[in-house]
Parts: sequence; structure tokens; C-alpha cells
Amino acid sequence: MKICFATNNPKKIEEVKAALGNDFTVVSLKEIGCHEELPETGDTLDYNAFQKARHVFENYQVSCFADDTGLEVAALDDAPGVYSGRYAGEPRSDERNVDLLMENMKGLTNRNAQFRTVIALILDGKEYSFEGVAKGEITTERSGDRGFGYDPVFRPEGHEQTFAELSMQEKNAISHRGRAVRKLIDFLNGLK
Ligand code: IMP
Repeated sequence: MKICFATNNPKKIEEVKAALGNDFTVVSLKEIGCHEELPETGDTLDYNAFQKARHVFENYQVSCFADDTGLEVAALDDAPGVYSGRYAGEPRSDERNVDLLMENMKGLTNRNAQFRTVIALILDGKEYSFEGVAKGEITTERSGDRGFGYDPVFRPEGHEQTFAELSMQEKNAISHRGRAVRKLIDFLNGLK
């Protein structure tokens, strides 16, 4: 079965392809001829994930899934949340986003936070969603140079290191996206 992963991130596509095996052909947006920016105008992760998936399904008539992720910080009323990528404004910058987060959390003792990923799937016109959460806390200083985004300041529960200090395999095993992708894959593999 052919299924489009509505992303332009080749790393995400490779990760899912490797896990799905040969029964599903995972294709990118480019491979279905979609070169436009997908709409992402909602204020929840669910809304944005389904908005992207529906856009692809309706315009390209192909089964597809899309993901959306946010960092939710308890002491900041779950900000930056759906705005995580553009927390410090446009153009998007991981560096400035982390600086702003550090600034806004200065002096706060409750450092609890979680990453949450929602995957929206549209298969033959039917809609499904899968969620993955990684709980942890925001450190007071950056550590590590792997990963991306807020990884240098996010320490997952039960670990001494930040996401940016873990290998990709170690991060995938416990991360929000890893958990959501495994739920999607279990569901798709169950259809065989
Ligand atoms: P997206 O929905 O996957 O594009 O993620 C939106 C934003 O959330 C990114 O631009 C990052 O700032 C942040 N983010 C998402 N996933 C991660 C992660 O695994 N580590 C650190 N930051 C992340």
C-alpha cells in the first residue's frame, strides 16, 4: 500500500520507512508532486496534524499521515506548545527559541515539561490519530550537541542526560515522536 508521510524532513521519512518494512511504500510530499507549504494555522497539535493530512488527502487523493509536535512547560501554562517552532518569532531559530525559554523560566523552581507528538492518519478516507508523550524537565543550562530544537535543555524522566546528550537510538526509544510512530506502525502492521 502506498502512503504519504506529509513532511519534508528526510530523516523522519527514513525512520518510518525502516520500521514499516515492505508492505507499505512510504512516499514523501515531493514524490506525490506536492511542493507547496502545507497549511498549519490551528492552535492545537491535533488541529494542525489533521489540517496537513486532510490537505494532502483532498488535493492528491492519497492515504497519508502528518505529525505535529510541541513542548509543553507546566509553569508556563503549557507554552510554547503548538508554537514551539516559532516561539521567538520568524525566521525560526532553535537558538533563539531556547534563549527565550531560558529567559522565561529564570527563577522558576517547577521545571516540569513534556514533549507531545500527534500523528494524524487518513487511510482510505477514514481518520485516526496517535499520540506520544515524553515527560521530563527543563534544565537551567544547555548540555549536549546532538538532536535539534529544545533537546539541549530537555532532560527526560529517569535520565541524567539531556536529549542532546543521548544517541539517536536512545532518544528514539523514549521520545514523544518515537512513541507516536510506534503506535502508528503497530496499527498499520495490524492491517496486513
Ligand atoms: P515539528 O512539529 O516536528 O515540526 O516540531 C515543532 C517544533 O517543536 C520544532 O521546531 C522544535 O522546536 C520542537 N521539537 C519537536 N520535536 C523536537 C524534539 O524531538 N526535540 C527538541 N525539540 C523538538
